[in-house]
Amino acid sequence: MKTYFPLDRLRAESTPFYYYDMQLLDETINCIKKSAAYPGFYVHYAVKANANPEILKRIAAAGMGADTVSIGEIKAAIDAGFPAPKIVFAGVGKTDEEIAISLEYGIGCFNAESEPEIDAIEEIAKSQGRIAPVALRVNPEIDAHTHHYITTGLAENKFGIALSMLGRLIERCINSEYIDFKGLHFHIGSQITDLTPFKILCERINALQDEYADVVIPTINVGGGLGIDYDDPDGNPIPDFKQYFDIFHENLKLRPGQQVHFELGRSVVAQCGSLITRVTYVKEGVGKKFVIVDGGMTALIRPALYQAHHKIENITSTSPEMERYDVVGPICESSDTFGTDELLPTTHRGDLIALRSAGAYGEIMASGYNCRPLPSSLFSR
Ligand SMILES: *Cc1c(COP(=O)(O)O)cnc(C)c1O
Repeated sequence: MKTYFPLDRLRAESTPFYYYDMQLLDETINCIKKSAAYPGFYVHYAVKANANPEILKRIAAAGMGADTVSIGEIKAAIDAGFPAPKIVFAGVGKTDEEIAISLEYGIGCFNAESEPEIDAIEEIAKSQGRIAPVALRVNPEIDAHTHHYITTGLAENKFGIALSMLGRLIERCINSEYIDFKGLHFHIGSQITDLTPFKILCERINALQDEYADVVIPTINVGGGLGIDYDDPDGNPIPDFKQYFDIFHENLKLRPGQQVHFELGRSVVAQCGSLITRVTYVKEGVGKKFVIVDGGMTALIRPALYQAHHKIENITSTSPEMERYDVVGPICESSDTFGTDELLPTTHRGDLIALRSAGAYGEIMASGYNCRPLPSSLFSR
């Protein structure tokens, strides 16, 4: 389904803002539910992709759990209706305060990433007279073949526990009075479009399960990372969830009664969002034309941060002529560029430009640099 832009509503809004196609979000959620309908499969939404309350409420209402990385995200998830036992808490730097409050909420699992973190969780649980649910995040040393800033499963990354330390730390959790060992957690990276790394992950997990055959491992959490089509959002509005979940169904050898948890972020919300920004000026450069828009890297940082490219559309131009433009934001940084040599219909001051596939890692990463206000949000009816 193609995202339809209600131009009269969009024109009346002050730019830049995020526009969310909630019908597409619903269809995406339904597709996930259908494709993940295998016994023992549970899907969590990675809140860090987009924590807009309206988006969170839809996803919570659909029955998914939440994967979080800070106490702020846990609070946002609870406010949106995610039940605390369905919330998991990951991240390499959980503070004592974050651990204490999460324990009080009764969240479902801490995905611990180091020995000092296990120490801290145990100590805080003891002081509260509680038993902390803890899974261990393993660094599986798999190359997800994605941008080096968003690969997380290599030995050189800061994430997870090295395979060489795993056995001792599993023992440590199992023998602790204040820890309930929940299982193993993996996350190999993001925007993964060649699904082979997921198959390799299954094989790595199978081998680990064999190695720790005598350990009770209630849950395997395989993380997130499924990529989306940034080049053709209307051609591929919903990722191939069936193929993704089937890889795990076919390749992961689960033990009887074992649960497998998924933590999808980008693939749930990216395609339903667009950043809508207005053309402030069309500027003639030397052998170049610039379209200067009123939303820049403060509204959508992915191009500046990861060299990402979002499809750029002039949604209000009616011109039959096409021209090449560099599309740039207003911020005083050369990296504040959304695209170079973009082919767009002849563009004028006041036109609306949509940066597509911006529902994930868009609004949530917006900043107030240059004292610019944060972008607002608008939803399809
Ligand atoms: C970021 C993250 C996710 C979600 O990744 P996506 O690529 O958005 O699906 C899942 N789990 C963990 C631990 C993460 O850090």
